[in-house]
Amino acid sequence: MSPRPVFVLGLFALGALVIAQEPKKDEPKKEPEKKQYKSNDMSRPRPKVVDPGTTTPSDQPGKPPADAVVLFDGTSLKEEWTRGGKDAEPQWKIENGYAEIKGGGINTKKRFGDSQIHIEWATPKEVKGNSQGRGNSGVYLGGFGEVQVLDSFNNDTYPDGQAGALYGRFPPLVNASRKPGEWQVYDIVAELPKTDAAGKVTRPGRITVLHNGVLVHHAVEFNNKFGEFTISLQDHGNPVRYRNIWVRKLGQYDDGTPPPEKKK
Ligand code: MG
Repeated sequence: MSPRPVFVLGLFALGALVIAQEPKKDEPKKEPEKKQYKSNDMSRPRPKVVDPGTTTPSDQPGKPPADAVVLFDGTSLKEEWTRGGKDAEPQWKIENGYAEIKGGGINTKKRFGDSQIHIEWATPKEVKGNSQGRGNSGVYLGGFGEVQVLDSFNNDTYPDGQAGALYGRFPPLVNASRKPGEWQVYDIVAELPKTDAAGKVTRPGRITVLHNGVLVHHAVEFNNKFGEFTISLQDHGNPVRYRNIWVRKLGQYDDGTPPPEKKK
């Protein structure tokens, strides 16, 4: 028994529709339409959870590259940090190669421009509180704002306030959190805005963040004008721990221009 003509026609029509909707090969992919969310919006979809594996160590601190400015090697904070921007020593508890938050936030004595920043942190193993009250701290980088530190392992909160978020603005691309008590790593590339002679921003500042080796922000742009920054670690009332903190200044390998493109 042959198929009914209406059914065959229907199939043809469907085929034509599929062909018509297929993008042409040389056309760039269209961006999906973006929805606007308010800051700290609980209705915003949650980033996908991704087990970060072990591209970065969790069992022992990493070792800094030879050209890094070491800000904390597990022994003392007083050389490179002050308490809450004042001319006072940090009060954080130092033991077993880490510093635990106590008595206010701390910030670096040095200022940084274009840089690669490495910070290892751990939220308390004993889970207390929820949402923003669980293992909250943060890494402040001047005009880039706060890279949120939070226990975001099975702990729901607004997505632009979870671990790895650029607080109040951008949720992380994925949730690459480890369990509470386990050591986690931020690797951050921060590039200051560039300005012309008249002070107009010609290239926005941008920031890239990897959480436990997993990309969570890629060259996110900041259009406002700002300069070098101190790095601050937030005291949000939770005993979060930090270790192995260092910064590399970004530079170019030479001042030359790239070679001309080869003719095909
Ligand atoms: Mg915070």
